[in-house]
Amino acid sequence: MRQLIEVKVNSESAKDIMNGYPLLSKEAMETSGVTMAEGSIMHLVNSNGRYIATAYYGLQNKGIGWVLTRKEQERIDTKFFVRKISEAVAKRDSFYEAEDTTAFRVFNGEGDGIGGLTIDFFNGFYMVSWYSEGIYSFREEIYQALSEVVNVRGLYEKLRFNHNGQYLEQDDYVSGEKGEFPLIVLENGMKFAVDLNDGAMTGIFLDQRKVRKALRDHYSKGKTVLNTFSYTGAFSVTAVLGGAIGTTSVDLAKRSLPKTIQQFAVNGIDYEAQDIKVMNVFDYFRYAARHDLKFDVVVLDPPSFARTKKMTFSTAKDYPKLLKDAMKITNDGGIIIASTNNASFNMKKFKTFIDKAYTEANTRYKILEEHQLPEDFTVPDKFPEFNYLKVVFIKVMN
Ligand code: SAH
Repeated sequence: MRQLIEVKVNSESAKDIMNGYPLLSKEAMETSGVTMAEGSIMHLVNSNGRYIATAYYGLQNKGIGWVLTRKEQERIDTKFFVRKISEAVAKRDSFYEAEDTTAFRVFNGEGDGIGGLTIDFFNGFYMVSWYSEGIYSFREEIYQALSEVVNVRGLYEKLRFNHNGQYLEQDDYVSGEKGEFPLIVLENGMKFAVDLNDGAMTGIFLDQRKVRKALRDHYSKGKTVLNTFSYTGAFSVTAVLGGAIGTTSVDLAKRSLPKTIQQFAVNGIDYEAQDIKVMNVFDYFRYAARHDLKFDVVVLDPPSFARTKKMTFSTAKDYPKLLKDAMKITNDGGIIIASTNNASFNMKKFKTFIDKAYTEANTRYKILEEHQLPEDFTVPDKFPEFNYLKVVFIKVMN
Protein backbone atom coordinates (compact mmCIF):
# COMPACT_ATOMS: atom_id res chain seq x y z
CA MET A 1 0.00 0.00 0.00
CA ARG A 2 1.12 3.47 -0.80
CA GLN A 3 1.88 5.53 2.31
CA LEU A 4 -0.12 8.68 3.03
CA ILE A 5 1.69 11.10 5.25
CA GLU A 6 0.85 14.54 6.57
CA VAL A 7 3.77 16.90 6.09
CA LYS A 8 3.98 20.36 7.59
CA VAL A 9 5.68 22.97 5.42
CA ASN A 10 7.12 26.30 6.50
CA SER A 11 5.11 29.46 5.94
CA GLU A 12 7.18 30.75 3.04
CA SER A 13 6.76 27.52 1.07
CA ALA A 14 3.12 27.26 2.04
CA LYS A 15 2.60 30.66 0.44
CA ASP A 16 4.49 29.70 -2.72
CA ILE A 17 2.63 26.41 -3.04
CA MET A 18 -0.73 28.09 -2.60
CA ASN A 19 0.36 30.42 -5.37
CA GLY A 20 0.98 27.51 -7.71
CA TYR A 21 4.63 26.70 -7.09
CA PRO A 22 4.94 22.97 -7.92
CA LEU A 23 8.20 21.87 -6.28
CA LEU A 24 8.74 20.78 -2.67
CA SER A 25 12.22 21.35 -1.32
CA LYS A 26 13.78 19.57 1.61
CA GLU A 27 14.15 22.84 3.49
CA ALA A 28 10.42 23.52 3.18
CA MET A 29 9.53 20.55 5.39
CA GLU A 30 8.90 21.22 9.05
CA THR A 31 7.97 17.65 9.75
CA SER A 32 11.07 15.66 10.57
CA GLY A 33 11.87 12.19 11.67
CA VAL A 34 9.49 10.46 9.29
CA THR A 35 10.88 8.02 6.80
CA MET A 36 8.98 8.07 3.57
CA ALA A 37 9.08 5.59 0.76
CA GLU A 38 9.46 6.94 -2.77
CA GLY A 39 6.02 7.46 -4.22
CA SER A 40 4.37 8.22 -0.88
CA ILE A 41 1.50 10.66 -1.03
CA MET A 42 2.03 13.73 1.13
CA HIS A 43 -0.75 15.91 2.40
CA LEU A 44 0.97 19.24 2.81
CA VAL A 45 -0.37 21.39 5.62
CA ASN A 46 0.59 24.85 6.86
CA SER A 47 1.71 25.63 10.39
CA ASN A 48 -1.92 25.74 11.51
CA GLY A 49 -2.41 22.26 10.18
CA ARG A 50 -4.58 23.47 7.34
CA TYR A 51 -4.45 21.48 4.07
CA ILE A 52 -2.74 23.23 1.17
CA ALA A 53 -1.85 20.59 -1.40
CA THR A 54 -1.24 16.95 -2.20
CA ALA A 55 2.24 15.99 -3.43
CA TYR A 56 4.20 12.84 -4.07
CA TYR A 57 7.58 12.04 -2.57
CA GLY A 58 10.32 11.51 -5.15
CA LEU A 59 13.96 12.51 -4.77
CA GLN A 60 15.52 14.54 -7.57
CA ASN A 61 18.42 16.94 -7.38
CA LYS A 62 15.90 19.80 -7.64
CA GLY A 63 13.80 18.79 -4.64
CA ILE A 64 12.06 15.99 -2.80
CA GLY A 65 8.71 15.90 -4.53
CA TRP A 66 6.10 17.62 -6.63
CA VAL A 67 2.64 19.00 -5.98
CA LEU A 68 -0.05 17.06 -7.83
CA THR A 69 -3.24 18.80 -6.76
CA ARG A 70 -4.58 21.49 -4.47
CA LYS A 71 -7.94 19.77 -4.07
CA GLU A 72 -8.03 17.81 -0.85
CA GLN A 73 -10.57 15.29 -2.11
CA GLU A 74 -8.80 14.53 -5.40
CA ARG A 75 -7.42 10.98 -5.46
CA ILE A 76 -4.17 10.19 -7.26
CA ASP A 77 -5.31 7.27 -9.37
CA THR A 78 -5.58 6.28 -13.03
CA LYS A 79 -8.43 8.75 -13.53
CA PHE A 80 -6.28 11.56 -12.19
CA PHE A 81 -3.55 10.71 -14.71
CA VAL A 82 -6.13 10.45 -17.50
CA ARG A 83 -7.26 13.99 -16.71
CA LYS A 84 -3.73 15.38 -16.65
CA ILE A 85 -2.62 13.62 -19.83
CA SER A 86 -5.84 14.60 -21.67
CA GLU A 87 -5.34 18.25 -20.79
CA ALA A 88 -1.75 18.08 -22.00
CA VAL A 89 -2.69 16.33 -25.23
CA ALA A 90 -5.44 18.89 -25.93
CA LYS A 91 -2.87 21.67 -25.64
CA ARG A 92 -0.78 19.97 -28.37
CA ASP A 93 -3.63 19.74 -30.88
CA SER A 94 -1.81 21.79 -33.45
CA PHE A 95 1.30 19.63 -33.11
CA TYR A 96 -0.67 16.44 -33.67
CA GLU A 97 -2.25 18.00 -36.75
CA ALA A 98 0.88 19.47 -38.31
CA GLU A 99 2.09 17.42 -41.24
CA ASP A 100 5.58 18.78 -41.40
CA THR A 101 6.41 18.14 -37.71
CA THR A 102 6.10 14.65 -36.24
CA ALA A 103 8.17 14.92 -33.07
CA PHE A 104 7.24 17.03 -30.06
CA ARG A 105 6.75 16.99 -26.30
CA VAL A 106 3.31 15.83 -25.19
CA PHE A 107 3.79 16.17 -21.45
CA ASN A 108 6.32 18.45 -19.83
CA GLY A 109 6.57 17.54 -16.15
CA GLU A 110 5.65 20.34 -13.76
CA GLY A 111 4.41 22.49 -16.68
CA ASP A 112 1.65 19.94 -17.22
CA GLY A 113 1.03 19.27 -13.55
CA ILE A 114 3.23 16.27 -12.77
CA GLY A 115 6.87 17.06 -12.06
CA GLY A 116 9.35 14.28 -12.76
CA LEU A 117 7.50 12.91 -15.79
CA THR A 118 7.93 13.80 -19.45
CA ILE A 119 6.36 12.21 -22.51
CA ASP A 120 7.60 12.78 -26.06
CA PHE A 121 5.96 11.86 -29.34
CA PHE A 122 8.03 10.50 -32.22
CA ASN A 123 5.95 9.68 -35.25
CA GLY A 124 3.37 7.57 -33.39
CA PHE A 125 5.81 6.22 -30.82
CA TYR A 126 5.80 7.56 -27.28
CA MET A 127 8.80 7.93 -25.05
CA VAL A 128 8.29 8.38 -21.33
CA SER A 129 11.10 9.67 -19.10
CA TRP A 130 10.96 9.01 -15.36
CA TYR A 131 12.99 11.33 -13.17
CA SER A 132 12.55 9.66 -9.77
CA GLU A 133 11.77 6.32 -8.23
CA GLY A 134 8.72 8.05 -6.73
CA ILE A 135 7.05 8.94 -10.00
CA TYR A 136 8.11 5.57 -11.43
CA SER A 137 6.02 3.90 -8.72
CA PHE A 138 2.95 5.22 -10.59
CA ARG A 139 4.11 3.56 -13.81
CA GLU A 140 1.19 1.18 -14.20
CA GLU A 141 -1.48 3.84 -13.67
CA ILE A 142 0.29 6.27 -15.97
CA TYR A 143 0.72 3.76 -18.80
CA GLN A 144 -2.91 2.74 -18.42
CA ALA A 145 -3.94 6.41 -18.56
CA LEU A 146 -1.74 7.13 -21.58
CA SER A 147 -3.26 4.25 -23.52
CA GLU A 148 -6.75 5.52 -22.68
CA VAL A 149 -6.00 9.02 -23.99
CA VAL A 150 -3.92 8.45 -27.11
CA ASN A 151 -3.29 5.82 -29.69
CA VAL A 152 0.15 4.45 -28.82
CA ARG A 153 1.92 2.79 -31.74
CA GLY A 154 4.83 1.70 -29.59
CA LEU A 155 6.02 2.67 -26.11
CA TYR A 156 9.58 3.31 -24.91
CA GLU A 157 10.90 4.68 -21.63
CA LYS A 158 14.01 6.12 -20.02
CA LEU A 159 14.80 5.78 -16.33
CA ARG A 160 16.65 8.87 -15.25
CA PHE A 161 17.03 8.41 -11.53
CA ASN A 162 19.14 6.99 -8.79
CA HIS A 163 22.17 5.76 -10.65
CA ASN A 164 24.57 8.47 -9.50
CA GLY A 165 23.72 10.53 -12.51
CA GLN A 166 24.66 7.65 -14.75
CA TYR A 167 22.30 6.34 -17.34
CA LEU A 168 21.44 2.72 -16.64
CA GLU A 169 21.91 0.70 -19.81
CA GLN A 170 18.66 -1.11 -20.29
CA ASP A 171 16.17 -2.14 -22.91
CA ASP A 172 13.89 0.87 -23.22
CA TYR A 173 11.12 -0.97 -25.06
CA VAL A 174 7.88 -1.26 -23.05
CA SER A 175 4.99 -2.36 -25.26
CA GLY A 176 3.28 -2.11 -28.63
CA GLU A 177 5.08 -2.06 -31.95
CA LYS A 178 8.87 -2.24 -31.80
CA GLY A 179 10.41 0.64 -33.64
CA GLU A 180 12.82 0.15 -36.50
CA PHE A 181 15.66 2.49 -35.77
CA PRO A 182 16.67 4.93 -36.94
CA LEU A 183 13.13 6.20 -36.98
CA ILE A 184 12.76 9.22 -39.23
CA VAL A 185 10.80 12.14 -37.79
CA LEU A 186 9.98 15.46 -39.40
CA GLU A 187 10.52 18.90 -37.96
CA ASN A 188 9.33 21.82 -40.05
CA GLY A 189 9.92 19.61 -43.05
CA MET A 190 13.46 18.60 -42.06
CA LYS A 191 14.22 14.96 -41.39
CA PHE A 192 15.89 13.71 -38.24
CA ALA A 193 16.98 10.19 -37.42
CA VAL A 194 16.13 9.14 -33.88
CA ASP A 195 16.71 5.99 -31.89
CA LEU A 196 14.54 5.46 -28.84
CA ASN A 197 16.54 2.49 -27.61
CA ASP A 198 20.13 3.59 -27.67
CA GLY A 199 21.27 5.05 -24.37
CA ALA A 200 20.27 8.21 -22.56
CA MET A 201 19.48 10.40 -25.56
CA THR A 202 17.43 10.00 -28.72
CA GLY A 203 19.48 11.87 -31.32
CA ILE A 204 17.56 15.11 -31.26
CA PHE A 205 16.82 17.76 -28.64
CA LEU A 206 13.24 18.73 -29.34
CA ASP A 207 13.43 21.92 -27.27
CA GLN A 208 15.65 23.57 -29.92
CA ARG A 209 12.99 23.38 -32.65
CA LYS A 210 12.46 27.13 -32.99
CA VAL A 211 16.18 27.80 -32.91
CA ARG A 212 16.75 25.34 -35.77
CA LYS A 213 13.98 26.98 -37.76
CA ALA A 214 15.41 30.45 -37.22
CA LEU A 215 18.90 29.26 -38.19
CA ARG A 216 17.60 27.62 -41.36
CA ASP A 217 15.27 30.41 -42.44
CA HIS A 218 17.27 33.52 -41.60
CA TYR A 219 20.95 32.89 -40.91
CA SER A 220 22.25 30.15 -43.19
CA LYS A 221 21.97 31.13 -46.82
CA GLY A 222 25.40 31.53 -48.36
CA LYS A 223 27.11 31.26 -44.95
CA THR A 224 29.81 29.14 -43.38
CA VAL A 225 28.65 27.60 -40.12
CA LEU A 226 30.61 26.16 -37.21
CA ASN A 227 28.55 23.91 -34.96
CA THR A 228 30.31 23.26 -31.65
CA PHE A 229 29.18 20.56 -29.18
CA SER A 230 27.36 19.28 -32.22
CA TYR A 231 26.15 15.86 -30.91
CA THR A 232 24.33 14.37 -33.97
CA GLY A 233 24.81 17.53 -36.01
CA ALA A 234 21.19 18.71 -36.00
CA PHE A 235 22.18 22.38 -36.30
CA SER A 236 24.55 21.52 -39.16
CA VAL A 237 21.82 19.71 -41.10
CA THR A 238 19.54 22.67 -40.49
CA ALA A 239 22.16 25.09 -41.80
CA VAL A 240 22.77 23.10 -45.00
CA LEU A 241 19.04 22.89 -45.64
CA GLY A 242 18.93 26.66 -45.21
CA GLY A 243 21.56 27.12 -47.91
CA ALA A 244 24.83 27.22 -45.95
CA ILE A 245 27.86 26.84 -48.20
CA GLY A 246 29.73 24.75 -45.65
CA THR A 247 29.39 23.40 -42.13
CA THR A 248 31.87 22.16 -39.56
CA SER A 249 30.57 20.02 -36.72
CA VAL A 250 32.74 19.49 -33.65
CA ASP A 251 32.05 17.01 -30.87
CA LEU A 252 34.25 15.00 -28.57
CA ALA A 253 32.15 11.85 -28.62
CA LYS A 254 33.30 9.25 -31.15
CA ARG A 255 29.75 8.29 -31.98
CA SER A 256 28.98 11.82 -33.09
CA LEU A 257 30.73 11.01 -36.40
CA PRO A 258 28.45 8.17 -37.61
CA LYS A 259 25.42 9.87 -36.08
CA THR A 260 26.13 13.13 -37.90
CA ILE A 261 26.76 11.32 -41.18
CA GLN A 262 23.40 9.65 -40.69
CA GLN A 263 21.57 12.96 -40.05
CA PHE A 264 23.04 14.41 -43.25
CA ALA A 265 22.31 11.26 -45.23
CA VAL A 266 18.63 11.02 -44.30
CA ASN A 267 18.23 14.55 -45.64
CA GLY A 268 19.93 13.68 -48.91
CA ILE A 269 22.96 15.85 -48.10
CA ASP A 270 26.39 14.81 -49.34
CA TYR A 271 28.12 14.47 -45.97
CA GLU A 272 31.54 14.22 -47.56
CA ALA A 273 31.21 17.85 -48.54
CA GLN A 274 30.72 18.74 -44.85
CA ASP A 275 33.40 18.79 -42.20
CA ILE A 276 32.84 16.57 -39.16
CA LYS A 277 35.48 16.66 -36.45
CA VAL A 278 35.68 14.37 -33.46
CA MET A 279 37.62 16.56 -31.09
CA ASN A 280 37.52 18.74 -28.03
CA VAL A 281 35.94 22.10 -28.89
CA PHE A 282 38.63 23.95 -26.95
CA ASP A 283 41.34 22.25 -29.01
CA TYR A 284 39.39 23.07 -32.13
CA PHE A 285 39.41 26.78 -31.27
CA ARG A 286 43.21 26.68 -31.14
CA TYR A 287 43.37 24.63 -34.35
CA ALA A 288 41.09 27.11 -36.15
CA ALA A 289 43.09 30.10 -34.96
CA ARG A 290 46.34 28.45 -36.16
CA HIS A 291 44.82 27.79 -39.57
CA ASP A 292 43.16 31.19 -39.87
CA LEU A 293 39.72 29.65 -40.10
CA LYS A 294 36.77 31.95 -39.59
CA PHE A 295 33.05 31.40 -39.83
CA ASP A 296 29.98 33.51 -40.52
CA VAL A 297 27.87 31.70 -37.94
CA VAL A 298 29.07 29.90 -34.81
CA VAL A 299 26.70 27.78 -32.73
CA LEU A 300 27.63 27.26 -29.07
CA ASP A 301 25.54 24.66 -27.26
CA PRO A 302 27.68 23.18 -24.49
CA PRO A 303 26.43 20.79 -21.81
CA SER A 304 25.96 22.47 -18.41
CA PHE A 305 29.05 20.69 -17.15
CA ALA A 306 31.75 18.89 -19.05
CA ARG A 307 34.82 17.17 -17.76
CA THR A 308 37.69 15.87 -19.81
CA LYS A 309 41.04 14.53 -18.62
CA LYS A 310 42.58 17.94 -19.01
CA MET A 311 39.85 20.32 -17.92
CA THR A 312 36.40 20.97 -16.54
CA PHE A 313 33.92 23.34 -18.07
CA SER A 314 30.87 24.78 -16.36
CA THR A 315 28.48 27.08 -18.21
CA ALA A 316 27.77 29.01 -15.02
CA LYS A 317 31.47 29.91 -14.72
CA ASP A 318 33.06 29.61 -18.13
CA TYR A 319 30.52 30.89 -20.66
CA PRO A 320 32.20 34.30 -21.10
CA LYS A 321 35.47 32.56 -21.95
CA LEU A 322 33.71 30.27 -24.40
CA LEU A 323 32.19 33.31 -26.12
CA LYS A 324 35.54 35.05 -26.34
CA ASP A 325 37.09 31.97 -27.93
CA ALA A 326 34.22 31.85 -30.41
CA MET A 327 34.50 35.55 -31.25
CA LYS A 328 38.09 35.07 -32.37
CA ILE A 329 36.98 32.77 -35.15
CA THR A 330 33.80 34.59 -36.15
CA ASN A 331 33.86 36.89 -39.17
CA ASP A 332 33.09 40.59 -38.72
CA GLY A 333 29.36 41.00 -38.93
CA GLY A 334 28.98 37.31 -38.14
CA ILE A 335 26.53 35.68 -35.77
CA ILE A 336 27.11 33.68 -32.61
CA ILE A 337 24.21 31.56 -31.47
CA ALA A 338 24.79 31.12 -27.75
CA SER A 339 22.72 28.46 -26.04
CA THR A 340 22.56 26.95 -22.58
CA ASN A 341 20.20 24.64 -20.76
CA ASN A 342 21.67 25.28 -17.32
CA ALA A 343 18.67 25.78 -15.04
CA SER A 344 20.74 27.39 -12.30
CA PHE A 345 20.69 30.86 -13.92
CA ASN A 346 18.09 32.80 -15.89
CA MET A 347 18.09 34.74 -19.16
CA LYS A 348 19.01 37.98 -17.43
CA LYS A 349 22.08 36.39 -15.89
CA PHE A 350 22.98 34.71 -19.19
CA LYS A 351 22.96 38.12 -20.85
CA THR A 352 25.40 39.40 -18.24
CA PHE A 353 27.80 36.62 -19.33
CA ILE A 354 27.39 37.80 -22.91
CA ASP A 355 27.98 41.40 -21.97
CA LYS A 356 31.05 40.48 -19.92
CA ALA A 357 32.57 38.56 -22.82
CA TYR A 358 32.07 41.28 -25.41
CA THR A 359 33.12 44.06 -23.06
CA GLU A 360 36.32 42.21 -22.18
CA ALA A 361 37.00 41.58 -25.86
CA ASN A 362 36.30 45.22 -26.60
CA THR A 363 33.80 44.21 -29.24
CA ARG A 364 30.43 45.76 -29.95
CA TYR A 365 27.50 43.45 -30.33
CA LYS A 366 23.80 43.44 -30.91
CA ILE A 367 21.27 40.86 -29.77
CA LEU A 368 19.09 39.91 -32.72
CA GLU A 369 16.88 37.16 -31.30
CA GLU A 370 16.18 35.40 -28.05
CA HIS A 371 14.56 32.02 -27.59
CA GLN A 372 13.40 29.99 -24.64
CA LEU A 373 11.40 26.78 -24.51
CA PRO A 374 8.86 26.24 -27.32
CA GLU A 375 5.12 25.94 -26.58
CA ASP A 376 5.08 22.17 -26.23
CA PHE A 377 7.63 22.46 -23.38
CA THR A 378 5.03 24.01 -21.10
CA VAL A 379 6.29 25.94 -18.09
CA PRO A 380 4.16 26.55 -14.95
CA ASP A 381 2.41 29.92 -15.07
CA LYS A 382 4.12 32.56 -12.96
CA PHE A 383 7.28 30.49 -12.48
CA PRO A 384 9.67 31.24 -15.33
CA GLU A 385 12.52 29.62 -13.43
CA PHE A 386 11.39 26.32 -14.92
CA ASN A 387 12.10 27.68 -18.39
CA TYR A 388 15.65 26.37 -18.45
CA LEU A 389 16.53 26.95 -22.12
CA LYS A 390 18.18 30.21 -23.10
CA VAL A 391 19.36 30.94 -26.62
CA VAL A 392 20.63 34.31 -27.83
CA PHE A 393 21.56 35.25 -31.42
CA ILE A 394 24.36 37.77 -31.20
CA LYS A 395 25.67 39.84 -34.08
CA VAL A 396 29.32 40.72 -33.86
CA MET A 397 29.63 44.40 -34.78
CA ASN A 398 33.36 45.09 -35.07
N1 SAH B 1 23.97 20.99 -29.91
C1 SAH B 1 23.51 19.63 -29.86
C2 SAH B 1 23.42 19.09 -28.46
C3 SAH B 1 24.67 19.18 -27.65
S1 SAH B 1 24.72 18.02 -26.35
C4 SAH B 1 22.17 19.52 -30.57
O1 SAH B 1 21.51 20.52 -30.79
O2 SAH B 1 21.78 18.40 -30.90
C5 SAH B 1 26.33 18.29 -25.78
C6 SAH B 1 27.41 17.62 -26.59
O3 SAH B 1 28.64 18.16 -26.18
C7 SAH B 1 27.54 16.11 -26.41
O4 SAH B 1 27.37 15.48 -27.66
C8 SAH B 1 28.98 15.90 -25.89
O5 SAH B 1 29.62 14.80 -26.48
C9 SAH B 1 29.65 17.18 -26.34
N2 SAH B 1 30.81 17.64 -25.57
C10 SAH B 1 30.95 17.76 -24.23
N3 SAH B 1 32.13 18.32 -23.94
C11 SAH B 1 32.77 18.56 -25.10
C12 SAH B 1 34.03 19.15 -25.45
N4 SAH B 1 34.86 19.61 -24.53
N5 SAH B 1 34.34 19.24 -26.76
C13 SAH B 1 33.47 18.78 -27.71
N6 SAH B 1 32.27 18.25 -27.43
C14 SAH B 1 31.92 18.13 -26.15
